[in-house]
Amino acid sequence: MKTPKQENPFEMACRQLDECAGRLQLSRGAHQLLRTPLREYHFTMPVRMDNGDIEVFHGFRIQYNNARGPTKGGIRFHPEETIDTVRALAAWMTWKCALLDLPLGGAKGGVVCDPRKLSVCELERVSRAYIQAVWPVIGPHRDIPAPDVYTNSQVMSWMMDEYSRITGEALGGVITGKPMSLGGSVGRDDATARGGLYTIREAAREIGLDLKGATVAVQGYGNAGYHIARLLRRHFNARIVAISDSRGAIKNPRGLDPEKVLAYKQKKGSVAGFPGAAAVRPAAFLELPVDILVPAALEEVITGANAARIRPRILAELANGPTTPEADHILEKNGVHVIPDFLCNAGGVTVSYFEMVQNAYLYAWDQLRIEERLDRKMTTAYHEVLATARRYNLGMRQAAYQVAVQRVIEAMRLRGWI
Ligand code: NAD
Repeated sequence: MKTPKQENPFEMACRQLDECAGRLQLSRGAHQLLRTPLREYHFTMPVRMDNGDIEVFHGFRIQYNNARGPTKGGIRFHPEETIDTVRALAAWMTWKCALLDLPLGGAKGGVVCDPRKLSVCELERVSRAYIQAVWPVIGPHRDIPAPDVYTNSQVMSWMMDEYSRITGEALGGVITGKPMSLGGSVGRDDATARGGLYTIREAAREIGLDLKGATVAVQGYGNAGYHIARLLRRHFNARIVAISDSRGAIKNPRGLDPEKVLAYKQKKGSVAGFPGAAAVRPAAFLELPVDILVPAALEEVITGANAARIRPRILAELANGPTTPEADHILEKNGVHVIPDFLCNAGGVTVSYFEMVQNAYLYAWDQLRIEERLDRKMTTAYHEVLATARRYNLGMRQAAYQVAVQRVIEAMRLRGWI
C-alpha cells in the first residue's frame, strides 16, 4: 500500500500534534514530551519454520505515554511494518484513550511479517515468540495488547497462553480481543465498527443526512470494513455501493449485500470479481461520489494529491491515519464532515477496556450492556469534539486533538512531570 512518496507516519502524527500544541500554547518541555514515546522495545525473534529453517523476525512494542494509566494498543503483523508506523499508532492510541476518557495510556506493537505467507503453525510460533520477547514489560497494570491489522482472536489466544505459561498466572486481562471462551467480551468482534456507527449516526443528524438509502463506499474489507458495511445496512438501510480490499475494488450503484461479498471474499480471497458488480480502479476508489466514505484499511490514503476529488458528505475514518494534514485542510475547505480516526475507530479500544474491567472481576456483561455503554461513550466523545470544534472554530480533527491533549497534559501536570 505504501508508495515511495508517502510521508513518514510518525512525522505526520507529530505535525498533527504540533498544530494543537501551538494553539494550546504548550510549554516547550510539555510539547517535547508529547512528541516522544516514553519507552520503545525492539526485538529480534528467531522462529523455526515448518521446513526446519530458522527465520529471523523483527518486532516492536512502543509504550508512548502512560500518564493516564497502563498503556494499551494493538499488535499489527504486516510485511511493511516500520518502527515509525508503530510510533504513530502508539501516539494515536494515547489521544484515543484520552478522548474516550478511558483510564489508559497509549501503546502499539508490530511484527514485520506477512501472515498470509505463514502456515497456521508458523503464525502460532511467531505469536508466541512475540510474547517471549515482550512479557517482562506487559501485564494488566502495565501495558495491555490487543488485535490490529492481520492479528485476530486466535493470535490473542496463543499470546495469552504464552504469557500464562511463562509467568504461571492465568491472567485474562493481560490481553484483550480474546475469544469469548477465554474471557473475551461480547461485542468485541464488531466493536470498532459499532463505535464508528454511533459516530456516523450523530454526524448524519448534525449535517441533516438521512442514512436510509445513503450511499456508502468502504475501503478495506477486514474486521472494521466488513462490520461497518453490515451494521450501516442493517441498522439504517444505508446502500453499500462500493467495497475494496488489497487485491481489488468493486461497485454496484443498486447496492451490495455485505454478507454475500464477505462469503465471496472468503472463498476467492478477494472482493474482486464479485458477481453483478463492476470493477473499480483502486486509485479512483476513494473518489467515487458517495454520501459516506469509510477508509478501513491502512494509513495515508487521502493526501494533498487526491483530497480535492474526495467529496463525501461524511468521511468516517475507521482506519488509523488515513488522511494527511494537507488533505485535512482541503477536505475542511470543501465542507466534508470528518469523523477523525481516533474518535471514529475508538469503539475497539473502548470494548477492550470493558473486557479488561470484566476480566478484573471475573464477570461477564451481556450484549445489551456493552452496546449501551459503548453508545454512551462514543456519543459523548463525538459531542465533546463537535462542541470544541464550534466553540474554537476548528476542524473536527483539531478539536479532537484539543480535547485529548488537554487531558493528557492535565494528567502529566498532576503527576509532576511538567
Ligand atoms: P484487517 O486485517 O481485518 O483488514 C484489513 C483490510 O484492509 C483487508 O481487507 C485488506 O485486504 C485491506 N487492505 C489492505 N491494503 C489495502 C489497500 N491498499 N486497499 C484496500 N484495502 C486494503 O484489519 P482491521 O482490523 O479491519 O483494521 C483496518 C484499519 O482499522 C487499520 O487502520 C486499523 O489500525 C484500524 N483499526 C482497527 C481496529 C480493530 O479493532 N480491528 C481498531 C481500531 C482501528
